[in-house]
Parts: sequence; structure tokens; C-alpha cells
Amino acid sequence: MKPRLSRRAMLQLGGGALLGAWAAQSRAPLAAPPAGGYRWRNWSGLQSCAARELATPGDEAELAKLLHEAARTGVPLRCVGAGHSFSPLVPTAGKLVSLDRMSGLLSHDAAAGEATLLAGTRIGLLARLLDEKGLALRNQPDIDAQSYAGAISTATHGTGAGLPALHADARALRLLTPSGLALDCGKGRDDDLLQAARVSLGSLGVIARATVAALPAYHLQRKLWLLPAQDMLEAAPELARRHRHFEFYYLPFTGYAAAIVHDIRPPGPASRPASADEDMLRELRRLRDWLGGMPALRRWTARRLIDPDLSELAFDKSWRLLSTVRPTRFNESEWHVPREAGIACVREVIDKLERRNDVFFPLEFRFVKADDAWLSPFYRRDSCSIAIHAAAGEPHDYLLTEIAPLFRRYEGRPHWGKLHPYGAADFAALYPRWSDFLKLRRELDPKGALLNHHLRRVFGVPA
Ligand SMILES: Cc1cc2nc3c(=O)[nH]c(=O)nc-3n(C[C@H](O)[C@H](O)[C@H](O)COP(=O)(O)OP(=O)(O)OC[C@H]3O[C@@H](n4cnc5c(N)ncnc54)[C@H](O)[C@@H]3O)c2cc1C
Repeated sequence: MKPRLSRRAMLQLGGGALLGAWAAQSRAPLAAPPAGGYRWRNWSGLQSCAARELATPGDEAELAKLLHEAARTGVPLRCVGAGHSFSPLVPTAGKLVSLDRMSGLLSHDAAAGEATLLAGTRIGLLARLLDEKGLALRNQPDIDAQSYAGAISTATHGTGAGLPALHADARALRLLTPSGLALDCGKGRDDDLLQAARVSLGSLGVIARATVAALPAYHLQRKLWLLPAQDMLEAAPELARRHRHFEFYYLPFTGYAAAIVHDIRPPGPASRPASADEDMLRELRRLRDWLGGMPALRRWTARRLIDPDLSELAFDKSWRLLSTVRPTRFNESEWHVPREAGIACVREVIDKLERRNDVFFPLEFRFVKADDAWLSPFYRRDSCSIAIHAAAGEPHDYLLTEIAPLFRRYEGRPHWGKLHPYGAADFAALYPRWSDFLKLRRELDPKGALLNHHLRRVFGVPA
């Protein structure tokens, strides 16, 4: 019988001893925190800091006091959500503030199609709370562990040619600033501030609460199937047009890609096969481990083992299908390019990636609709998003040194929460409202109480 490289079937290449060594994820060494301090590190283990304290305010009065103190003492303050950003947005030697105790739904209005929540609410919890009220988010990212404020602050997105990133559905925000202001912004009430605050990297103030647009709860059907990579690249624009959500994963050194579509269907009994993504990853990693030094043999073997007829069907409530869990840790860089350039760009990226024999992580290709937030990577630009990954503990520098320069030619805007080498001059050229944002940031936080080293580089603010 022909052996098969499927999302479930494991490669029978023998021996798993090497795997343990690769699975041991190296982590950033942690500096000792000051006495009474707090050691923090991000999800992938790449970013870390020794903060003076982790403050967890329970309400807006406590949060306002923390901000006032930061402005008075000059000890900087950074907000942390779920720590799922790959870029060093969070690390500080000052104070970390988590809104984990400011979580939950405050109110909802089904007729208006909106709900108001405390900004520390995790996306997964928000989806469940909305569901109890017969409501649902328009779209969700790949995982739902992020806090709402953390997710919108970096322009977190899902996929769908007609669906914008999460922040576009933030109808109103309350922002507490170091200068003691509590600013409420929303459509028709300081619209400019809303467009600036929707994606603001925690640099304008702390988002305490948000009103989000919500749809009546809906069910989705998911279909997954494999296609030869060249066919996928040709079919992608049409698949994106035909389906509410479409994305594909390119499987390096196999010649194949996996298409995933989601479409709304009438309610019915759920059927959801267990995710086999981890099996697939393990198989791709094994192929790389055993045959990485022989790329031609690696490709030949993958093509013989892969099951081109593989497909999966699932049906469930929207929030149960749109987000998943990712047990394998990795580091990531993601770039958003103009929609019409997406396929040409990803062809080049694949070509470059496959010049490195150590690559095995699938590349993710998604579609995101334009919006108007000043620092949105989708600002007035329908986009395609190209995400490249390296397993945690393995080299990832090449994502920035070898692959990132390619995106410059396509006017790629990097995901704020993922690894990128860009600084203020790069962003000034990419964002039409860049100087407006910088001016507003100076007004709301003149002493830079909310900045860290990374944000000073991003905004061009000297230490
Ligand atoms: C496994 C994995 C899968 C992912 N999938 C996707 C995906 O599908 N799509 C996508 O676009 N991204 C994705 N990401 C990236 C992730 O969504 C973003 O980095 C997001 O910002 C993380 O949210 P967080 O709550 O962890 O925020 P953090 O990483 O903790 O913080 C992010 C930023 O938000 C700020 N912040 C946090 N809370 C507040 C607040 N109350 N007020 C003001 N600022 C605040 C922080 O200061 C920081 O600047 C993924 C990341 C991982 C690790």
C-alpha cells in the first residue's frame, strides 16, 4: 500500500529520537527583576523583560491612578494583553499593566448590532459571551487567546476578501491617558481620535473599554482540501471572491498547498473533526530533519507520500471554527501587500524560502479588506497577507534579513505585532497619516510615559 503524507498519517521514516531535541524550545534568558519585580516573556519566548511590577487594576479609577503615577514619577508603563505579539512591543524596565481583571461584557444591544466590553476581555471569552446573547464577531483571527485591546492595538485580522481586520469593528473606545484624561471616541464623536486609537500600539493611552459591532450569531461550514501549489496560486483570487473566508497554507518542499474556506450555512448539528494541524507540522518537520540536506529527494519523497485527495469538512458556530489553538511555538513575520500584487509577491517569497533547506513551517496567505484607521496596515488598501514562520528555538533571523527586503518592493506594511526590521523613516513612507499620529501621540503622552525602546525606534523618539 502507498504510504501517505496526510494531516493525520505520520511519516514512517523510523526513529523519533531527533525530534525531542528539536522540540526542546530554547528560550530567551531572563534578566533578574528588581526586588518585588516581575519577570515577563511573550508566547514564543523570544521577548522578555524584568519589570518593576505587574499591576492589575480592577477598575478605571485604579487604572487612572497608575497612569497618573507614571506621568509623575517618570517610571514608564507598558500595557500587556495576552503577550502574543512577537515584536518587542511590551518589554519595559518600568511597570507592566494587565487588564486581566477588567474583563467581561458590560452591555449589548442586539437591535443596534453592538456590545460594550471591558478591554481586557480575551477574544475567546468575548465570542462565548456574545454567543450567549445571540451575537457573534464578524471575523476572528487564527487563535482567540488575545485580549481585545491587545488584538486591535496591532491590527489583528482574520481572512476574507470582504472582511476587514478586528479594529474596523470597534465603534467606540474609552482611552485613559497619562495626562489624566478619560477620552471617549466613536463615530460622530471625535472620529479622528477613533481612527488613531483603533491601532495605536498602546502608545496613546490605555484602552479601558470598547463598543464593538456584532452580527446575529451564525454557523459556518469549513472545507479543507489540497491542490498542487501552482494551481492554488492561480485559483486563489477566484476562491477569495467566491467564499466568505478563504486562505491557503503553502507546504514547503512538497509542491502542495492546503486551501481552507468557510461559508455561512443555516444552523444545524455540529460536526468538527479533531484538528490535525499538529500532525501535519510534525510530518513536515520530520521530512526536513531527515532529508533537508537533499532537497530533490525531499521533494520527491513528499510527492510520493502526500495524499492529493485529502479533504476535511466541518460545521459549527462561527467562533468555534474561525479560531484554533497552536500548541507548537514559533516566531513569525507577516506582511500586508496591495491585493493585486499578492500572488506575484507570494511566488517570490516561496522561491526565496525554498532556497533554505531548514524551512519546514507552512506559509499562510490571507485576504483582508481595507479600513480607515491611521496606523492600520490595511489603511485604504485591500490587501493580501503573507505570514512566514520559524519554529521557536530555531534560527529566525533570515525572516528579516533574507525575506523581508523582498516586501519592500511590494510596498508591504509589516504586521505591528510580528517581527519586522522597520523604523520611523520606513513607516513615514508607508502611512499617509503617520505625522498626524505622531503629533497626537506627543499631545496625549508628551513625556513618553507609555514608550519603550522598540516604540522609540518605531516613532523616531530619542531616549
Ligand atoms: C499563535 C499566534 C497566532 C496569531 N494569529 C494571528 C492572526 O491570525 N492574525 C493576526 O493578525 N495576528 C495574529 N497573531 C498576533 C496577535 O494577534 C497580535 O500580536 C496581538 O496584538 C496579540 O494580542 P495580545 O492580547 O497578546 O497583546 P500583547 O501582545 O500583549 O500586546 C500587543 C500590544 O497591545 C498593547 N495593549 C495591550 N492591552 C492594551 C490596552 N488595554 N490598551 C492599550 N494598548 C494595549 C500592548 O501595549 C502592545 O503594544 C498571532 C499570534 C500568535 C502567538
